[in-house]
Amino acid sequence: MSKVRLLPESLANKIAAGEVVERPASVVKELIENSLDAKAQNLRVIVRAGGKQLIQVLDDGEGLSPDDALLAFERHATSKIIKAEDLTEITTLGFRGEALPSIAGVSRLTMETRTQDQPLGTSLEIAGTRILGVKEIARPQGTSVLVRDLFFNVPARKKFLRADSTELSHIVNILTQYALAYPENNIALTSSGRELFNFQSVVQLKERLFQVFGSDLLKQLVELKAELPLFPNQTQNKEGFVQEHIHLHAFVSSPDVHKLNRNSLYFFVNQRMVRDKMLIHALLEAYRRILPSGAFPVALLFIEIPYSEVDVNVHPSKTEVRFRKQSLIHDFLQESIRKALMNARFQTPFSVQPEKLKVNPRIPQSQPPHKVSNNFQKGLPELPLSSDSVKATPLENRLTSQSPDTPISSPLCATSGLIPREEQQTWDVNDIKMSNSRDIQPLGQIEESFIVASEKGSLLIIDQHVAHERILYEKILSERQNGKIETQGLLLPLIVELTPQQQIILDNISKELNSCGFEVEPFGHRTLAIKSVPADLTTADLKKLLGELLDGLDKETQKVSLERIKEKIAASIACHAAIKINTHLEYSKMTWLIDELLKTKYPTTCPHGRPIILRYNKTEILKAFKRI
Ligand code: ADP
Ligand code: MG
Repeated sequence: MSKVRLLPESLANKIAAGEVVERPASVVKELIENSLDAKAQNLRVIVRAGGKQLIQVLDDGEGLSPDDALLAFERHATSKIIKAEDLTEITTLGFRGEALPSIAGVSRLTMETRTQDQPLGTSLEIAGTRILGVKEIARPQGTSVLVRDLFFNVPARKKFLRADSTELSHIVNILTQYALAYPENNIALTSSGRELFNFQSVVQLKERLFQVFGSDLLKQLVELKAELPLFPNQTQNKEGFVQEHIHLHAFVSSPDVHKLNRNSLYFFVNQRMVRDKMLIHALLEAYRRILPSGAFPVALLFIEIPYSEVDVNVHPSKTEVRFRKQSLIHDFLQESIRKALMNARFQTPFSVQPEKLKVNPRIPQSQPPHKVSNNFQKGLPELPLSSDSVKATPLENRLTSQSPDTPISSPLCATSGLIPREEQQTWDVNDIKMSNSRDIQPLGQIEESFIVASEKGSLLIIDQHVAHERILYEKILSERQNGKIETQGLLLPLIVELTPQQQIILDNISKELNSCGFEVEPFGHRTLAIKSVPADLTTADLKKLLGELLDGLDKETQKVSLERIKEKIAASIACHAAIKINTHLEYSKMTWLIDELLKTKYPTTCPHGRPIILRYNKTEILKAFKRI
């Protein structure tokens, strides 16, 4: 008996579904793509239980005749390509003829559809590739695909699905991406009876960005448009050769926007959301030395390129692409974005030069060497925790707009050019025992950002911001543990707009936010009112902090424990409430800071893992002066 045999169709469909249908969001993606390919203007998605129970996509597109509707569920049935050459110029989102049979193979599916020229529509019921029924129905032009009980017949897949809210957040993510790629369409999402968004058709991309992200983010973005001839040596000639171009329309964030991950990078090629290493590389290269290492911008890149110049048939999910002219496109993107950032002239030119860094002469020498106040707020009433003057010229954000390639040492990282990197030493935890805060005497500040101190013949440089961050971080965590978080009510509640994605994440973490001292209430559609906040936080930083939490936690809510989220919230509050750099500190404030720092469990590293103290010991000083 032969060993090789053809797989039954139902099994082949399940295998194919493994590639195309990973989770409810992938079903939404495929169905939305079909609706857009069918030239629908209105798209509505309805889900229940994060799409696990039910997903319905309704459109007013071209619809399908009864015969086509049946055929569409056959493997490799497509109306979008006919011959092999078509593959070199794919103009539609779908083309593989795989989605419908794959989805039908792992769910209970009902399709209802009608074309313009058919008097009646068709209703088709399928479960795991078995056609259960076909009937004529009256319905408007367009198509509705209803998918119930996803993976009911693939328990192994079902087991891997996450919490409803997580699956919903993936759906929101996918739909937001399509909403951005298709501003001319009306796109709405309802989850368990609650409308999460309903984006109305707009003319300008910018307007869609406003609908999705709100005005706050839009203000931080620079819009740019650029184009490049793809065949620079050929010009338009008598034979009618028309030069083909690559067009870029992008929105990129100013250098003071620092995201903790790549969640806010969006790339679209011919209105298809893609993931591509080359595109990410080009973008991040444009930001090199503008953002501190480990920080990411917000960026939306919309690229239009002749269809023949890009291959989308790389992966079943069609989100990976290959460009024919990789490096040309890479350099074009990088340069266009870089130029736009430079032209926007966000900040004044700045470069760190060691000889310009002076010890602050304002430090009164007659001060007693050690004077400690126990309460920061009480003892140091005039200290601005957040001041506008600090914001206007934040050291970390200054960038050389004149000479883009001059390296900028980011004070966010401790290797800030004060001491050559190889000679730097961060304070070794095991060394602490030797230090009593009494032994540390502050001498002054560098750039009103770093405390310079002596400690038994050693020179210490303390990053005032991260030092305070560590103090607050431990304080918040311990207060949180003892259940006595200090809060402060806001006179007027602060109203914050949320993106649909953020709304879902907020639902996930609101309990934790409450126990950290936030009182947050829904306030109309995708808006919330913050009524009270942790005592250490000023309202000025509140919006930024919340945005950071809601963006930064996106991926982590899926896999990280609540413990980790607690720490993250505490770290975020601490970071925003801590004394900023570029803030003058009186002598007593410096000693207070050092004292409190030494009381913490981990005085050497900040909650984000950066060093707090640099130490230049006596031997190193003597060596540097060639005395030994
Ligand atoms: P593909 O999109 O790759 O062609 P699918 O399995 O997703 O494959 O769909 C098969 C075919 O069914 C499509 O080529 C299209 O002709 C038709 N179809 C699917 N969804 C719709 C829809 N919403 N409106 C009109 N036609 C549709
Ligand atoms: Mg399709």
